Amino acid sequence: MKKIAVLGSTGSIGTQTLEVAEQNQDMEITALAAGSNIRLLEQQIRKFRPRLAAVWSEEKARELKAAVADLDVRVESGMDGLIAAATESSAQIVVTAVVGMIGIRPTIAAIQAGKDIALANKETLVTAGHLIIPMVKEKGVRLLPVDSEHSAIFQCLNGERGNRISKILLTASGGPFRGRTKEQMKDIRVEDALKHPNWSMGQKITIDSSTMVNKGLEVMEAKWLFGVEMDQVQVVVQPQSVIHSMVEFEDGAVMAQLGTPDMKLPIQYALCYPERRPMAGERLDFWKLKEIRFEEPDFENFPGLSLAYKAGKTGGSLPTVFNAANERAVSMFLNRKIGYLTIAEIIESAMARHKVIPDPTVDQILEAERETYDYIESRW
Ligand code: NAD
Ligand code: MG
Repeated sequence: MKKIAVLGSTGSIGTQTLEVAEQNQDMEITALAAGSNIRLLEQQIRKFRPRLAAVWSEEKARELKAAVADLDVRVESGMDGLIAAATESSAQIVVTAVVGMIGIRPTIAAIQAGKDIALANKETLVTAGHLIIPMVKEKGVRLLPVDSEHSAIFQCLNGERGNRISKILLTASGGPFRGRTKEQMKDIRVEDALKHPNWSMGQKITIDSSTMVNKGLEVMEAKWLFGVEMDQVQVVVQPQSVIHSMVEFEDGAVMAQLGTPDMKLPIQYALCYPERRPMAGERLDFWKLKEIRFEEPDFENFPGLSLAYKAGKTGGSLPTVFNAANERAVSMFLNRKIGYLTIAEIIESAMARHKVIPDPTVDQILEAERETYDYIESRW
């Protein structure tokens, strides 16, 4: 039996992880954690019978506890609950599918407890990669990417142990506003930005995909996962999302992973690695596809991507500021408090005023996050 804990079980990645677990006979769910959707969490508890369930708010946790009183499940709340779910003793692998920097502490706790990590929560690696990568090595656990691009790169690197990567070609769909100028994007509404052409995902990452901030976060994620420099990661726009990413080796050979866009593949691959298992779903039909197109990214009209390169190259606490400013700005945009283009303006402004701490501890990362939030609150 593969024993799995899922953090963020009610979200897009979380629910797809549970679908994968359902389709594989040898997978058991030992812990679930979610933010506030206790209706769905209760259904999940009844179906998968975990030993532990965590809900962020104390009040909701009390409600859930009453609702599942007939079952043998512990219910916890807050950061303690999230950490308890991440470290639940019987789990071997923890799927980190919470959204945002909230994932840092539970991910670290899971690694410390010797769990393998199936990493969806890219914000954690972006802000604390310098702490997490050495910890993963020290503890001898596996850090398996769930993000489709990183799973693709990971698959391209199979069997290439020791061979040097010259370049990672990180593909991007370009999002729903590809080809537009800033002028043409200034009146974009929340509804427009929530329509991704190829993938159905949580709200925050959908907005991030439209601004190209998601791709910026992914460049930093690739830097940590594959031990390359920021300049070795080249973003290639490939609007149909057929190529999930590529690796160029020193001899010029380029390996690519292709497929239809379905997150269940990278999720299952991370959970079963190194084994490939059957998976239902559509297949690529190259006769119908006919062509695959490529473009350069538009750094001018999508400044989120250039700002990410700047943050990643500078390192230290700057990626935290980039990420925290984006998290707050996206939430303000979703609440209709700011316009679409203001998201990148807020990130730029928060980064410009920040005094970089070279090798921040977890506390310093969380402090930089708080400072960034305070600054944004005082100005917008
Ligand atoms: P989502 O918004 O659909 O789900 C987020 C989950 O986190 C929900 O279950 C929510 O309840 C939970 N959560 C939020 N705050 C919490 C808190 N304080 N305590 C406990 N749980 C909390 O998000 P998503 O699209 O599934 O994305 C999750 C992560 O995976 C993000 O980091 C995202 O960048 C990454 N990712 C997602 C996709 C995708 O296809 N959705 C692809 C690649 C990477
Ligand atoms: Mg991705």
